[in-house]
Amino acid sequence: MSRFARVQGALRGPLERARGGPEVLARVRDLRATLEPALRRGAELAIPPEARQRFSRAAELLGAGEPDADRLAAVARALGPLLDPGWPVRTLEAGTERIAGIGPKIAAALARKEIHSVEDLLFFLPRAYEDRRQLVEIEALEVGRPACFEGRVTRAGVVPLRNHRRFFQAIVADRTGSVGLKWFRGIAHFQDRIRPGVRLLVAGDVRRYRFAKELHHPDVEVLTDDAPLESLPRIVAAYSAVEGLPPRTLRRVVQACSAQASDLLEAHLPIGFVDARALPELGDSLRHVHCPTPSLDPDELGLRRTPYHTRLVAEELFLLQAGLELRRAALARRTTRPLAVDSAEVREAYASLPFELTRDQERAWREIRGDLRRPHPMNRLLVGDVGTGKTVLAFLAAVAARASDGLAVLLAPTEILAEQHLRTFRGLAGPGMPTALLTGSTPPAERREIARLLGLGEVAVLLGTHALLSEGLELPGLRLVVIDEQHRFGVAQRQLAERKGDAPHVLVMTATPIPRTLAVTLFGDLDHSLLRERPVGSTPVATRVVPRSATRQVVALMRQTLSRGEQIYVVYPLVEESEKQDLSDATRGFERLQKTLAGHRLALLHGRLDPRERARVMLGFASGQVEVLVSTTVIEVGVDVANATLLVVQHAERFGLAQLHQLRGRVGRGRRPGTAILIGEPASEGASRRLAILEGSASGFEIAEEDLRIRGAGDWLGTRQAGHLPELRLADLVRHAELVEPVREAAARLLAHDPGLVAHPTLRAAIERRWGRRLAFGSVA
Ligand code: ADP
Ligand code: MG
Repeated sequence: MSRFARVQGALRGPLERARGGPEVLARVRDLRATLEPALRRGAELAIPPEARQRFSRAAELLGAGEPDADRLAAVARALGPLLDPGWPVRTLEAGTERIAGIGPKIAAALARKEIHSVEDLLFFLPRAYEDRRQLVEIEALEVGRPACFEGRVTRAGVVPLRNHRRFFQAIVADRTGSVGLKWFRGIAHFQDRIRPGVRLLVAGDVRRYRFAKELHHPDVEVLTDDAPLESLPRIVAAYSAVEGLPPRTLRRVVQACSAQASDLLEAHLPIGFVDARALPELGDSLRHVHCPTPSLDPDELGLRRTPYHTRLVAEELFLLQAGLELRRAALARRTTRPLAVDSAEVREAYASLPFELTRDQERAWREIRGDLRRPHPMNRLLVGDVGTGKTVLAFLAAVAARASDGLAVLLAPTEILAEQHLRTFRGLAGPGMPTALLTGSTPPAERREIARLLGLGEVAVLLGTHALLSEGLELPGLRLVVIDEQHRFGVAQRQLAERKGDAPHVLVMTATPIPRTLAVTLFGDLDHSLLRERPVGSTPVATRVVPRSATRQVVALMRQTLSRGEQIYVVYPLVEESEKQDLSDATRGFERLQKTLAGHRLALLHGRLDPRERARVMLGFASGQVEVLVSTTVIEVGVDVANATLLVVQHAERFGLAQLHQLRGRVGRGRRPGTAILIGEPASEGASRRLAILEGSASGFEIAEEDLRIRGAGDWLGTRQAGHLPELRLADLVRHAELVEPVREAAARLLAHDPGLVAHPTLRAAIERRWGRRLAFGSVA
């Protein structure tokens, strides 16, 4: 029997015998009716420690014998919030009003901040912590800094101002000096408590007033002899403001909620995981986060690195990863027909490739082949830096689809890329592999012809843009979907493409080297293949960071490049916030360069051009007619102009590392080595160190990891794409990166034993509650 149950027992007799205080008695009876069965069943119904303490205190007060009315009143005080019929809160979905201490007014204020349920309030987490462990003497108070001190009120009273306004002021003194406290609101409340002679603990920001110091609306605790200093919070959570709730009230209600309801949280992490890391209990962890004990380090708290944070973060990541594994398992259970990867057609296509596959390509092809052989749809992400040769693997898979009398579809983010893939495929394909291209600018007649050919099974590979996903287009016999440069497509498109066929195999290719911690979250439902090495012959792009003052040398380098008959990209940044300015920058730069490089053919490319004009400019560059392409960042990822060998980036400090790495992948794609010149005036040392990483490293992965560390996950993905990240309450994929992998493994182990979570219904329900159908995130920049 628990201690609580014993208290219950002890209370029963005396309270029942007590005269008077019928509400108290009725309430105690109620509580017993709710709590006792739960206690018998174990700890299903959480009983907060505060409740336990209150019951023991009430039991003590009752003592033996019959309590009189006074004693019963004391018992009522001890029971406090437990007397509220709203207690105990039984579900996390309950409205915040169910928390003892939260009335309709506070609940309404919280609701305006989108805090509706007990769960919302529990996860309204502190934005910072204030350290009040160090008490200072009044003489040592510093203007402009928060401080905590103790003193005795020497004077207190309301001070009238002009126009009927007034404030309440108290002077607090210790042996070193005195300081004024002022309240402009809630005067009546403070007037009552803060009288001369009262001892106060004061915390707040010190400000200057004429020649003195004072504090406005500080936090104060009235110290009494039975409230020794140690019982006061010494590290205090600070929350973002809720309109209509003073910070103190807000803190009080969040903490009341955490005391009353934290234990309702269901823990899902496997015991083994918790034990191996000696993680604290879940409800306890949330209570410590809201109400830290003085032994915790405020810096660690602020960085969300205490063991309590770790427990919460690990739980949150586990719920996410288990959800992703659940989706992966569900996908894996779907069935489809295997593709003929071991057929003569595939062997022949492989044998007649114009080059030997790299070892990484070989391995990835083995993985893809393994998937395609199985009666379950492939669901694979092929990650490979620019130029590592992803396309050829898509081609081989397409041959397998054809050998199985099926259709392969390749989805590219832009028409230019679709056309480029068409050329590649036509170059690799034999006569048995008819291809077709369908984009937004395909004329209706041609569209109809393609539809006819598709109906006859006379197209092996259909390449194109999102036009391939349009409602009206039937894709009979669709067996393989390849999505190139996935970051341009959302999950919706991926799912739409999948729906177009009867559980087709799906290969997603991306050139964005996604750091592992992000990848397992963004694409946790996909299997991964990785291409790290580049095909023989391609040398890394020589990269130099130069200051603006080096323009003369840069122009000389451009002339040399042009004199060899090679082409140049000049790239200007373009961001939404300063679009106009950026555009005129690029335009002026273009005009200047036209004069400098008189006699050469230059073209300007930017997002304001209409698509046809853009395509025309791009085509001019691809065919060699245009020698220098000046553009904002719109040059397409994956564009392949082998004769372009020099990239000049203006204002390089304004680009992300991964983006710069992508950009430099545009040059050196042919036989001639590529050079990237990054022109920048890095404002800070951090910025120049950031750019220097590019000079030193050719690995997109190293760069992406570094970039992620510097910028954080949200920024790394870019504002638009950050929407594809799961919304995590506490976990940060960068800060808590080291937890991601072990948690994923734990989730994978659990799901391997129980793929449908049949034996873990509460976990399953929690996943559905938290993530619903939003379990595919995908899509990176
Ligand atoms: P990406 O991964 O950036 O899409 P591509 O598939 O466009 O790369 O390949 C880049 C270039 O490398 C292409 O011209 C392609 O023909 C060539 N290539 C691919 N694989 C090999 C290889 N194993 N050996 C030599 N060249 C290769
Ligand atoms: Mg490519």
